[in-house]
Amino acid sequence: MWTEAGRGVLARRAHTARFPDTAISLISVSQLGVMYDPTRNLLSGKVAVVTGGASGIGRATALLFSREGAAVIVVDLNESSGVEVVNEISTIGTRAKFMKADVSRSDDCKRVVESSLAEFGGIDILFNNAGIVCRATVLDLSEENWDRVMNVNVKSIFLMSRFVIPIMARNGGGSIINTASGWGLTGGAKAAVYCASKGAVVLLTKAMAVDHGPEKVRVNCICPGDIDTSMLRNEAQQLGQPADRFLTEAARRPMGRIGTPEEIAQAALYLASDASSFVTGTALVVDGGGLAGSV
Ligand code: NAD
Repeated sequence: MWTEAGRGVLARRAHTARFPDTAISLISVSQLGVMYDPTRNLLSGKVAVVTGGASGIGRATALLFSREGAAVIVVDLNESSGVEVVNEISTIGTRAKFMKADVSRSDDCKRVVESSLAEFGGIDILFNNAGIVCRATVLDLSEENWDRVMNVNVKSIFLMSRFVIPIMARNGGGSIINTASGWGLTGGAKAAVYCASKGAVVLLTKAMAVDHGPEKVRVNCICPGDIDTSMLRNEAQQLGQPADRFLTEAARRPMGRIGTPEEIAQAALYLASDASSFVTGTALVVDGGGLAGSV
């Protein structure tokens, strides 16, 4: 995974950033600690399950994990898009499989985990990413939609994790990454059940990290800000707003834009790989500064 040439380039870059006015062009690698080869293969030999992998953040992450050497099981309700992602992965060269499943259902989760284990021999990375949004206040929200959002966004993590953790523990550990949201850390208008669900994901993540740290199962979550996926357009539709106006509003944050699914995939890659070997129980905010303060 490491090359001297890669280390040298990074050492020079880091030196230039730290000492821009000096003529010295190189510092020793030992001053920087260990750095990754820029050609990377961070997930070589790993098996990753990605829920909600047919679209948006899950799709981008499935593709990135595969480019980094992982075999990927794409899990989603949407079969045609999921199969497309798997076909795309097969052009990259790693093993991949699509499994149609509703991750809010226990029997579906059990089937996914059992057949992944049988076919791929283990599960090293679980990205609990499938999610749905319902934009409503508690007064506008039906009981049915409350249950639906909580089941897909929260219960699915409980279900997938309880089948996967024993496998990871037997194999000496693993990494579970849950997709929460900026709205798991702060409230938002007309998003009562979504905020409740994502807040639950943040603390479920921390509780699982405490319980399973001793088994070397790391559990972290990502809190994305507004990301350019079909979910964001669906929110505009639910609120009866033109998509253009909604997206312009969403871009009002320090970085002046919404994020891309690939930017969240990079955060997932960090948490999935050994680069984050001492990180567990964290909620990684990736939101262009949205939670840092208003502009
Ligand atoms: P998306 O709609 O593009 O993708 C979600 C995927 O989940 C879809 O492919 C969908 O079919 C799948 N899915 C939904 N319910 C499922 C179920 N019961 N079983 C299996 N698959 C199911 O949306 P996205 O933006 O990529 O969302 C991914 C995650 O990111 C979600 O958890 C979402 O809450 C979270 N998130 C998104 C944003 C954003 O702005 N897009 C911001 C913060 C958090």
